Formats: sequence, structure tokens, C-alpha cells
Amino acid sequence: SVKSQGRNGYSFFDPTMEAKSLERILMENEMRKAIDQQQFHVYYQPKMDISSQKLTGMEALVRWVHPELGVISPGKFIPIAEESGMILELGEWILREACKQNKKWHDQGHMLKVSVNLSARQIFQKDLVERIIGVLEEVGLSAQWLELEITESIFVKMEEATAVLKQLREAGIHISIDDFGTGYSSFSYIKSLPVDTIKIDASFIRDIHHNQESQAIVKAIVTIADSLQMNVIAEGIELDDQAEALQQNGCAHGQGYLFSRPLATDDFEQFLAERN
Ligand code: C2E
Ligand code: MG
Ligand code: MG
Ligand code: MG
Repeated sequence: SVKSQGRNGYSFFDPTMEAKSLERILMENEMRKAIDQQQFHVYYQPKMDISSQKLTGMEALVRWVHPELGVISPGKFIPIAEESGMILELGEWILREACKQNKKWHDQGHMLKVSVNLSARQIFQKDLVERIIGVLEEVGLSAQWLELEITESIFVKMEEATAVLKQLREAGIHISIDDFGTGYSSFSYIKSLPVDTIKIDASFIRDIHHNQESQAIVKAIVTIADSLQMNVIAEGIELDDQAEALQQNGCAHGQGYLFSRPLATDDFEQFLAERN
């Protein structure tokens, strides 16, 4: 078979290999075109102080509006972008876009922090820190107004990840652990992580208003965060009852459809005008 000849350089003919790389090439081309043709859009979801209902910041979330395929959700294309390496280019575009936009809002008097999701692939990019600082300088946004959301998955390479996060924090950038509680999170190592904020995963929020275990978990996370002088925010709040249960368990900040869906720039400005 073709496979048996693979070692001699004939693996080139392996049909599955060929299909994979072809799909990857097509996808990379589509994504690069998409950046050039402005098919990617950055949406912004408000982060709130739950009791005062005041805006505290916003998370940048990418959307892809493909001319033929319509809206493709990040859950679909981000993993492909990660696998192909395109996430490096796409991620930097998103970062620049979000920082540029935040700078505009700052110039209008809205002093808010923008949070940008960073994939594992980006964290381990060699010159990541220089690139991010470069983007901040280029757009004229001070580092304190940028927060990077990372996931626990990066801590499989604990030392490398910690070193990068330390450099980012030394530059004045805030770090948040996204989807906390779903991955490698462990209370024994969290004390040594250079992070500012813990973002409690939506899975603990979904049933918090009628599940004592979720309440206990949230309470424990809040207690640990307090003692480590970290901030806490809950994601995926959809109901008043959930917001109330969060407050009862000490979590003062949140994000979710209850307050607002992720908004296009114009709609976010409307939100700013009405709510800030
Ligand atoms: P994430 O960073 O944990 O973002 C939260 C997701 O939950 C977003 O989905 C957001 O729209 C959604 N969400 C917010 N509030 C609610 C709510 O009340 N109920 C429900 N059911 N969902 C809510 P989205 O925008 O589809 O993004 C999914 C994931 O894709 C993100 O999870 C993140 O991991 C990734 N992603 C999105 N944008 C980017 C990006 O710019 N760069 C990278 N690397 N990843 C991104
Ligand atoms: Mg996030
Ligand atoms: Mg999340
Ligand atoms: Mg997520």
C-alpha cells in the first residue's frame, strides 16, 4: 500500500494527509482573505458591577461574517485557527482592533479596561510580549487598560506559561483566568499564578440559584481569591436569580445576557451612552 512506502517519502500520497493539509491551506487562505476583506468583527460584551449595575469593562469577542457561509461562531473557527497557526495573525489583529477601539472610547472619556482572549498558541509565541507592547504603543493605549484572558490549559507548561504571564504583568497588563474551574485549576497551585482575576466558568453559574454545590464552589473561589488579593467575575449570568445568588456568595462582578449580549461597536456605544 501507499502507507508502507511512507518512510521512503511516499507519505505524500497518503490521501488523509493530503485532505487535511488541503483543508488547512484552504482555511488559512479563507482567514487571511477574511482579515483583508474585513469579514472579522470585534464585538464587545459589558462587564458589570452586579449591585450598582455599573459598567466596569468589556470583553472583546470576535465574529466572522463570511460572504457565503454567513456568521461563523468563534467556537467553530478559533480551534481551526489554533490548529493551523493562523491564530497568531488573527489574534494580533483582534488585539490591535480592540485596543484601537478602546483608545477611541478613552478619548471620548470612557475609561474602561478591554479584555482580549488569548489562545494557548499565542501565549507560547516567542515574541508575544514585545508584540503586545508594540500594539499598545502603536495605538497609544496604556497597558493598564488591557486585560488578557487566558485559560488553564496553558498551565500544562507551567513554567513557560508563568514566565510569560509575569512579563506581561510587569508591563502593566492585567491577566484573567477564563473558564475557571473547568480545566487544570487546583487551589494548591493557584497561589503561585501571576494573575489578577479569576473568571468563574458559566457552568457554575447556570444552576447556582438552585444548586448548593455550585453555591459552595463559588463561595470557595471567592474566599480564595480574596485571600490572594485577586478579583472575581462570573460569566454567563442570564437570570436575576443567578445574579442574586452570586451576590449572596460574595461575587460582586459579572457578565452575561442578563446585562447585555456581546455588542457591535455602534451598539456598544449606545450602551455606553445609556448606562455609563
Ligand atoms: P469565552 O472567552 O469564555 O467567552 C464567553 C462566551 O460566552 C462568548 O461566546 C459569549 O458570547 C458567551 N456568553 C456571554 N454571556 C452569555 C450568557 O449569558 N449566556 C450564554 N449562553 N453565553 C454567554 P462566543 O463569543 O461565542 O465565544 C466562545 C469562545 O470562543 C470564547 O469563550 C473564547 O474561548 C473563544 N473566543 C471568542 N473570541 C475570541 C478571540 O477574539 N480570541 C480567542 N483566542 N478566542 C476567542
Ligand atoms: Mg473570555
Ligand atoms: Mg469564559
Ligand atoms: Mg469559553
